[in-house]
Amino acid sequence: MQEARNLLKQVYGYDTFRKGQEAIISGIMEGRDSLAILPTGGGKSVCYQIPALLMDGTTLVVSPLISLMKDQVDALNRLGIKAAYLNSSMSAVEYREVMRQAFMGEYKLLYVAPERLDAPMFASLSEQMHIPLIAIDEAHCVSQWGHDFRPSYRQLAGWIARMNNRPLVAAFTATATEEVARDIASMLGLHDPSIHVSGFARDNLSLSVVSGADKPAFLRKFMGERKDQSGIIYAATRKETEQVHAVLEKMGIPAGKYHGGLGDVERAEMQEKFRFDDVRVMVATNAFGMGIDKPNVRFVLHWQMPGDVESYYQEAGRAGRDGEESECILLFEPQDVQVQRFLIDQGTGDGDRKSIQMAKLHTMMNYSRTQRCLQQFIVEYFGEADVPPCGKCSSCLDKSELIDRTDDALKALSCVARLKGKFGVTTAAKVLKGSRDKRVLEWGLDKLSTYGLFSRWPEKEISDWLYWLVAEGYLVMSDGQYPTVSLASGSLPVLEGRERVQQRKRTTVRQASSQAV
Ligand code: ADP
Ligand code: ZN
Repeated sequence: MQEARNLLKQVYGYDTFRKGQEAIISGIMEGRDSLAILPTGGGKSVCYQIPALLMDGTTLVVSPLISLMKDQVDALNRLGIKAAYLNSSMSAVEYREVMRQAFMGEYKLLYVAPERLDAPMFASLSEQMHIPLIAIDEAHCVSQWGHDFRPSYRQLAGWIARMNNRPLVAAFTATATEEVARDIASMLGLHDPSIHVSGFARDNLSLSVVSGADKPAFLRKFMGERKDQSGIIYAATRKETEQVHAVLEKMGIPAGKYHGGLGDVERAEMQEKFRFDDVRVMVATNAFGMGIDKPNVRFVLHWQMPGDVESYYQEAGRAGRDGEESECILLFEPQDVQVQRFLIDQGTGDGDRKSIQMAKLHTMMNYSRTQRCLQQFIVEYFGEADVPPCGKCSSCLDKSELIDRTDDALKALSCVARLKGKFGVTTAAKVLKGSRDKRVLEWGLDKLSTYGLFSRWPEKEISDWLYWLVAEGYLVMSDGQYPTVSLASGSLPVLEGRERVQQRKRTTVRQASSQAV
């Protein structure tokens, strides 16, 4: 590893590896396939570039992002490392020239877009060249469980398996839950990979969720308190982007806007203006951000809840690239859930895909409602363990009174237990309410001992209570378009009387305004 450290210093000018980088590199150098889950900006390029420099031959880098590919190759060439790329943006002449040099073994790294790879192309690369390592960027694209499935990635495993001397494979992704990670490893045919998850916690970000706010009033106050800061406001639709933008203009704040309804020229112009601080705030849909690396973004405000935690953290994570203290605020309103549900229902995905999206939406809802440390919530979602509470998110800073709700929790939990995972939250709430609903009677649920335990509560409050128990990990919802609810492992200590259930008073108020999904 000394050699790797020397290269880090000589080539890149850095003194120390970041958390995770060293382990990933030594795994590769020991000859093991690897799967590395590092957040965007975590420094994954170094993790395959240094092994590429240490090994004989040409490392192949599969990457779907054409603009990043070019940036990387330019950067490598500036560092004096021979590298090139093959993608659909090139002329036939350029393409042939790169292939020629590649066959002569001129490059230490060759970037290839997946759509350029087909079986004959892959066969000729592997016959003509010595390839010690294949680095696969954005590896979640191979998984149907990920959020950006690409069929071309599916073929990779087969081609790699058929190579004469199978190279090592190192897969990288910024967003993979445990499930997706397992899927990636199996879809890419990784051999007993060393798996690394690290760097998801961002010390300089303060996360917060603000529920049920009067948004225009919030915006005025928020912007008034941040007079000189640069920030991004993400809105869900073009229309809302325009509306928020108009409010800012009225306030006299130099703001740009960015969404799919604007022309290419206008968008590029807005992006440049933001980059050079001609506008201080960018109001945008999620179309904005790919490849944005503005260091001094001090806040990212989400006007609505996005559909999954991956998207949320990726967008929020555009704050504080320079390491300075920055804020990520999510404005949450229960109606947002309906909007996201609608988008999933209307979407093009098949049933499986929709179920996955629904499950992701539920996790996002849990984030919006949890009273746990928000940083911990996210980091654990990405599979990284043992990260202490951040001490500065809206949950960690919430000093409102804790109310003991163990009795209410026990009633709800025992009702859910008796439904044996066959029903959703709505039905469970009806049973607890003691409803004469047709479905409840048909299934004989009125015979359960827990029927009517909350007969005095409004039904909506009951389902809110159940959702709160989900968000806190006492209950769990199944995947699927029509999710059912059952006991989660977190319910055991409560059912066994070893643990009490406490709810923040603030949360109680917040829950009262939320609605069933
Ligand atoms: P990503 O994981 O998003 O591909 P990059 O590889 O582009 O991230 O790295 C993000 C930034 O971090 C780059 O500017 C890179 O030069 C820097 N970086 C990577 N490794 C280190 C290190 N060990 N020390 C300091 N900076 C680093
Ligand atoms: Zn926290």
